This record gives sequence, C-alpha cells and structure tokens, in this order.
Amino acid sequence: MAKIIDGKAIAAEVISELKAETAKLASHGIVPGLAVVLVGEDPASQVYVASKEKTARELGFRSDKIVLPKDATQADLLRVVEDLNNDPGIHGILVQSPPPPQINEEAVILAIDPAKDVDCFHPFNVGKMLTGAHDGFHPCTPAGVMVLLERSGIDTAGKHAVVIGRSNIVGKPMAALLMQKGKNADATVTIVHSRTKNLAEHVARADIVVAAIGKPEFVRGDMVKEGAVVIDVGINRIADASTKSGTRLVGDCHYAECSAKASAITPVPGGVGPMTIAMLMRNTLAACRRAHGLA
Ligand code: NDP
Repeated sequence: MAKIIDGKAIAAEVISELKAETAKLASHGIVPGLAVVLVGEDPASQVYVASKEKTARELGFRSDKIVLPKDATQADLLRVVEDLNNDPGIHGILVQSPPPPQINEEAVILAIDPAKDVDCFHPFNVGKMLTGAHDGFHPCTPAGVMVLLERSGIDTAGKHAVVIGRSNIVGKPMAALLMQKGKNADATVTIVHSRTKNLAEHVARADIVVAAIGKPEFVRGDMVKEGAVVIDVGINRIADASTKSGTRLVGDCHYAECSAKASAITPVPGGVGPMTIAMLMRNTLAACRRAHGLA
C-alpha cells in the first residue's frame, strides 16, 4: 500500500515557517501585501479567493480583495492593476482566472509588474523559471509539487517523470521544474497530452507520474508501474448520492487502484491543493523581501 503524501501537513509546515519569517519582517516594520482581483462573483473563484485571503491574514500579511463588477471593461481592470503596481505596500498581485469573456487575459498578465507576478504567469518570470534563474518566481501548483516531493524524501534525480497535461499553469512548468539541473530536480521528463499516441505505455514507464488533466479518475491502477510515485493535481467534482451534498471531489487518478500499486501517492483533497496556496504565500514573501532589498 502506498505511503500517503500529506499535502495538508506539509503545507501547514511551510505556512508556519513563513509565519516565523513574516514576524521577523514585522519587527522591522515590513508587512508583505497580497492583492487579489476578481471580475464578477463566480462562486468557485470566490471559494479560492476566500482561502487565499484567510491564509494571508493568518500569516500577518496585508490582504486586499478587489472585486470589479462582472461587466467591468478591460480598461477598468488595467487601471486597477496599474494602481496595484504603483502601491508600495502590495508585493503580490493576482487576477483570478478565468476572467469574463470581455477581458483579454494575456493583456492583463502582461500589465502586471513582473516583480509582483506571484502566480508566475508573466512571460518574464516563465522565462526565468525555464532558464533556472533564482530571482523570479515559480508557478504555485508545480512549485508545491516540488516541495511535496522534496519533503517526502522522494529523490527525483535521474528518475523518469511523466507529466500528463501541458497547460501553461500546471503541465508545462511542472515539466520545466522537474527537468531543471540541480538538487531536488534532475529528472528525465516526458510530457503526454490529448494528442499523445499510446499514452498508457508512457505512463507505465514512469517512476513519477504527475497527472494534471482535469478528467476524473483518468489514471487507473493498471497504467501505473509497481512502486511509482503518483502525484495527483486534478480536482474534479463528481456526483455521489451517498454524500450529503450529492457530490464529492476526486483527482485525475483512481485513488484506490493507484495507491495499491504506487509507493507514494497524494490524496485529493489534501494533497497538492493546500500546497498551491502555501506557495502563493511563499512567493509573496519573497517579492516583499526583494522589494526591500533583503533577498
Ligand atoms: P487544462 O484544461 O488547462 O489542461 C488539461 C491538459 O490535460 C491539457 O494539456 C490537455 O491536453 C490534457 N488532457 C485533457 N484530456 C486528456 C486526455 N484524455 N488524455 C491526455 N491528456 C488530456 O487544465 P489545468 O492544467 O489547468 O488543470 C488540470 C487539473 O488540475 C484540473 O483538474 C484542475 O482543476 C487541477 N488544478 C489543480 C490545482 C491545485 O491547486 N491542486 C491548480 C490548478 C489546476 P491538450 O493540451 O492536448 O488539450
């Protein structure tokens, strides 16, 4: 039976380290500031934003939430981003995705000051990540996976990692971080996606499988090599009449089947999810330190 990689516990550990660091900064009168911008009141986004705000406040950060009406224009949003870029008390800016259709998301990402781009969506920071620079940011979800692997004592060097999914938010940066030269990386990486032929054959060769496709329980036990490490990024809500709400969350991997084959596995919920928020806070703290010349 696989060891469970407890993302909730590891995220709590990271948060408590960040809290100690934040307290040290506070004694010098420095307070990290995170601003989250929402356009419209999409219920799923509200939930994510609420937990980001809660964690930021718990850490002692300044936490701003700016909600624009759902019919706000591109110009309205760009004005808000510009104000935040110019606010010295704000070190991290994120615009909750997906925005409504009248907003050009790419233009918004480009408008965020790269020094405050704590989501690491700006091409400047994506480029820095790819080249292995240490003065940019790493995108929160893949960075969280790397910390989970490291703190669970999983050696990635020379291992064959198969990343399922090639989104800009998860799959591509995940592959980039795993293949990076250096400690806690150095993996040999294959990326598979919806156009890959014989996907199951690639996955079967993986020492480490990272699933980020958004398809409930897509990775079955018979696809996974005995002893592989399974990292499940997926968050999917499916119908389940046996629960009070009538639904439950599952990952992109079939947990019962994969945990019978794997040596270690992340659960959903309680695996990668909590790490994403912890990494957002880590990036914001790093941005604050840099803004004060402390990096
Ligand atoms: P996207 O929809 O942006 O990307 C999905 C990727 O999976 C695409 O590259 C797509 O291929 C590939 N894919 C889809 N279907 C298949 C298939 N049948 N076979 C092979 N590949 C397939 O999703 P995201 O990357 O944003 O998110 C992936 C999952 O991770 C979702 O469940 C999401 O909710 C979750 N997530 C969780 C986070 C967390 O904090 N834990 C954070 C972000 C996301 P193609 O490119 O060819 O279309």
